[in-house]
Amino acid sequence: MSDSVVAGNCVICGHVSAMTVDPPRRTLARGTDPSDSSYSVTIVLPDVLLCDDHYHQFMSKELVVGWCDEESCRTYGAVGALSACGKPFAVLKR
Ligand SMILES: [Zn+2]
Ligand SMILES: [Zn+2]
Repeated sequence: MSDSVVAGNCVICGHVSAMTVDPPRRTLARGTDPSDSSYSVTIVLPDVLLCDDHYHQFMSKELVVGWCDEESCRTYGAVGALSACGKPFAVLKR
C-alpha cells in the first residue's frame, strides 16, 4: 500500500523532505535580448521541499532559500552557498 505523500529531498541538505513551501513566481529574463523587457517570462519555480529542520529555519528567517538559474542548475540552495555551476544562489524576490 502506498500513499500519496510527495517524495522528495530537502533542497538544502538532501534529507527526505517533510514540508513543501509555496513555489515562488519569478520573472526571469530568458530572451535573446536582455535589454528588451518583453522577453521576460514569468515562470513558476518548482515546489521548495524542505526537511523539518530547514523548514523551521526557513520560517524563522534563519535560512534564505535561493535559486540558481543557470541552465545546468536551476535548483534551490541556501543563499550565500555556491551552486553546482560555481555561482552563488540568488535571493528570490516575490
Ligand atoms: Zn534539510
Ligand atoms: Zn548554478
